Amino acid sequence: GRQLMEQEERYGIPDPRGLEQVFLRADGVYLWDLQGNRFMDFLGGDGAVSQGHNHTRIAASMVEQCLRLSLVTQGVRHARLPPYLEKLCTLTGFGAALPMNTGAEAVEVAIKAARRWAYRVKGVAPGRAEILVFTGNAHGQTTTLAGLSGDPDAADDFGPFGAGFRMAAFGDAVAAAEAVGPATCAILVEPIQGRAGLRIPPRGFLRSLRELCDRRGLLLLADEVQCGLGRTGKLFAFEHEGIRPDGAILGKALSGGFYPASAFLASREIMDLLTPGSHRSTFAGNPLACAVASAALDVLAEEHLVDRSAELGAYFLARLRSMECPRVREARGLGLWAALELREPAARAACEALAREGLLAQALGDSILALTPPLIITREQLDWSLERLERVLAH
Ligand code: PMP
Repeated sequence: GRQLMEQEERYGIPDPRGLEQVFLRADGVYLWDLQGNRFMDFLGGDGAVSQGHNHTRIAASMVEQCLRLSLVTQGVRHARLPPYLEKLCTLTGFGAALPMNTGAEAVEVAIKAARRWAYRVKGVAPGRAEILVFTGNAHGQTTTLAGLSGDPDAADDFGPFGAGFRMAAFGDAVAAAEAVGPATCAILVEPIQGRAGLRIPPRGFLRSLRELCDRRGLLLLADEVQCGLGRTGKLFAFEHEGIRPDGAILGKALSGGFYPASAFLASREIMDLLTPGSHRSTFAGNPLACAVASAALDVLAEEHLVDRSAELGAYFLARLRSMECPRVREARGLGLWAALELREPAARAACEALAREGLLAQALGDSILALTPPLIITREQLDWSLERLERVLAH
């Protein structure tokens, strides 16, 4: 353990806020460290391992595809892409999909599409398009996205950042309406903010944004990288408000934690603004990524993970709320995604104490514990975690 840590400290940039354990293997909802200790994983790859670690079905399709064809050169056709695109569009109800690798890249594509739409459809003066974003946002770490981020660590001393964004307070639809200017072409929003501390906006917020977009002729773009694909008990978190955005971004669980795969989803008309060659990446939509993501979507459907998330999530949240823990100010969540807000800034200490009990949770900021279990988790496993949470947070 020590040798690995020294190696990483010497050659890499380890996160000093991270847990001390070094992990070696995983299965389902569990991780094992170097010493062979088992942990229940409520870090859940930030929502990427919804299908559980090392799902055999996804692993098999990955290995099989590795041995068949893993990559062709950009712009060259291969047999895995078309059926994957159809599967993704059929499942999500969008007309077209553009595959990318990471969540951040797919958000970048959404921004590009919105800008082309501004100039070619809405008639915004060249070079002037603006996109409305929200305080506390976490859309990714590219220089563009860091520049509009609500996270000081992501932006500090990385400027100058690009123009073209306006900011409004997350959850405040009136502020959003006031922030829209003559060159605003789109609103980019996480229906639920993850990194900012699992912030669930007041009911009606997204619906108000949808109405605002309709009234002012703007595109509504939903960043569902973390909250999408069943995490909140619906396929998309925006469904909780009964709305449809003009575009959506998926990532993380789209490949079940195996291989980076993200996608920008929109109508055929919007997607057609991204002409061939206008957004390329060596690995985007490669045969391996298509095979993995396709299997990950099959697992989501066949194991009814969206419904599972809704049912078990409601149970989990009710149990969290009934815990006798004076240290917890609030338990909130949606689907199998929960946060415990502590009264003191003790989230890291609590995570360390939970890890000693065999449960991995994530500290967000000083006082929030995020719980992101794989969606394949059982009720018995949730009960096991609740016992640990209650014991650690009681004192
Ligand atoms: N959007 C949201 C809502 C996210 O939570 C994240 C990652 N935490 C991203 C985008 C960026 O995804 P990636 O890390 O794959 O670039």
